Amino acid sequence: ILMYANRYQQIKKLGQGSFGTAYLVHDTKSKHEKKVIKAIFIGDVSPNESLDAEHEASILARLRHPNIVRFYDSFIDQSYFCIVTEYCEDGDLDQLLKSLRKQRSRLQMDQVIDLFIQLLSAINFLHSKKILHRDIKTSNIFLKRNYIKLGDFGISRLMINTLDKASTFIGTPYYMSPESLRYDGYSMTSDIWSLGCVLYELSVCKRAFERSNIIQTMDAILRESPPALPERFPVKIQQLYLQMLSKEPEKRLKASELLDEFSKIEIKANNT
Ligand code: ADP
Ligand code: MG
Repeated sequence: ILMYANRYQQIKKLGQGSFGTAYLVHDTKSKHEKKVIKAIFIGDVSPNESLDAEHEASILARLRHPNIVRFYDSFIDQSYFCIVTEYCEDGDLDQLLKSLRKQRSRLQMDQVIDLFIQLLSAINFLHSKKILHRDIKTSNIFLKRNYIKLGDFGISRLMINTLDKASTFIGTPYYMSPESLRYDGYSMTSDIWSLGCVLYELSVCKRAFERSNIIQTMDAILRESPPALPERFPVKIQQLYLQMLSKEPEKRLKASELLDEFSKIEIKANNT
């Protein structure tokens, strides 16, 4: 339905997400390269708000890291805010873990650690630039050959500025930290909580906090201790994991500290 400023030709719809719809497109101005456009309905925005969003987008477009999805461009088309990003053809972690679970299979421990270190590198990079991700979850973590690519960072910030809280966030609560569920502020350590949830899911192909409905899920996040990692994981990793899922944000380690700790462990895992 959307025309996308002529430059982009729609190939197919990839899916519907919490903020909008994702489309696979050809970029006619760049050797018909495949890219992804995320179209977010914003209705009528004031010129000021759209300037803010453009500014934010220009910051995101400058970021380059092997483990983050390239953010190319953004524009407003009719009543949609459109974000152009790299296409990750090998799917996302949510799809991978679900299919492993169906086959009653799982990732090897050294794969889990390798993927998690890549994820930590991505978050450490964003945090070092004072950018919060705010929406870390397995469906925002893509695979491209053997690389992990973290996507959708900063989109919620773009949206907060553009929509000025008018946005009704209808995301999944599974990875949300206790403090963000309480509207008690979001910080870098809230991203660390979500990483802890992803680490558990990588290890057992099951979400750390998932109950039969949203209310019970939120209640588990707020009140229950996190499920333990399988015992085959080194004690050090089990401890770091539990710290990431501490209910008190200040008790969680920083991405840089976690990256140090996990890199040490990887060497040991390879030696045994
Ligand atoms: P959500 O992250 O909430 O699932 P999105 O709108 O981000 O929603 O994505 C919708 C679907 O499109 C997902 O299935 C996701 O795997 C796919 N998708 C999103 N971005 C990309 C991308 N850059 N490369 C490949 N697939 C993508
Ligand atoms: Mg997404």
